[in-house]
Amino acid sequence: MDIQGTIEEIVAMVAPLTSYGEVASYIPSLGRVPPENFGMCVAMADGAVYGAGDWQKPFSIQSISKVFSLALVMSYDYDSIWVRVAREPSGNPFNSMVQLEADKGVPRNPFINAGALVVTDRLLSLTGDAAASVRGLLRKESGNPTVDIDPVAAASEAEHGHRNAAMAHFLASYGNLENPVGLVLENYFNQCALEMSCEDLARASRFLSRDGVSSGGTPFLMPDQSKRVNAVMLTCGTYDAAGEFAYRVGLPGKSGVGGGIVAIVPGRCSITVWGPSLDSNGNSLAGIAALSELTTRTGWSVF
Ligand code: GLN
Repeated sequence: MDIQGTIEEIVAMVAPLTSYGEVASYIPSLGRVPPENFGMCVAMADGAVYGAGDWQKPFSIQSISKVFSLALVMSYDYDSIWVRVAREPSGNPFNSMVQLEADKGVPRNPFINAGALVVTDRLLSLTGDAAASVRGLLRKESGNPTVDIDPVAAASEAEHGHRNAAMAHFLASYGNLENPVGLVLENYFNQCALEMSCEDLARASRFLSRDGVSSGGTPFLMPDQSKRVNAVMLTCGTYDAAGEFAYRVGLPGKSGVGGGIVAIVPGRCSITVWGPSLDSNGNSLAGIAALSELTTRTGWSVF
């Protein structure tokens, strides 16, 4: 199969779609990114990497960081995090808090903001610096030592982060945070503000296509843990559009409001797309179209 040719064709095909949807503006620094950017990268489990379009331009990974904070916590703690966060799709937007009171402060899953705050809190207790540990993992797995936090994006979100702050305080009121609210929020905003390209992210998420085996060939996650992270990505990684994403793409995937999406083909490869213009659920509009086309053409799907 001509993977390089296929992704080049798909990037050209979805380019017109980048003028639909909207770039996230509730974090002001994200609102300044030109919507016509589009990149795609495929990193095969056995090493080959293919890229097209703006695949080497760094962007704000935002909620994609939640996959790596969860994987890190599981790598230290096996599965004890699941007492503090559930693993059911929420059917609600990523920043919704309507279910949190009924669920007594236990978020529905680790990929909505409330759940990710709990995971970051746990990682903070385990490592002393959650954002730095996520950055360390991403540098190591991507092979790019320059991966870093964009302080402007982090500050921009902190300044406008009233909703996440409210959520963190609400979690604390249920005793579901171990660290001070301010510190948890700072780490969460910093991990979301990490900047990476499609290439960096595809390389960094490759362990999920390899039963948890890291870039260095050693186990980072156990195979059952890798399977479980992928399962939660499939059911919860694109929020209230997880059903639609499974229908159209058919893979575990995780999106971020910076317009990136990581998708995993277990046993084969990891795929990233980036197009900053989002649909109404906060997922890259052209990105989902590109992934849908790729899995349809190649048959790479878990279904
Ligand atoms: N940092 C963003 C927020 O908390 C992440 C959301 C996202 O990417 N879906 O709102």
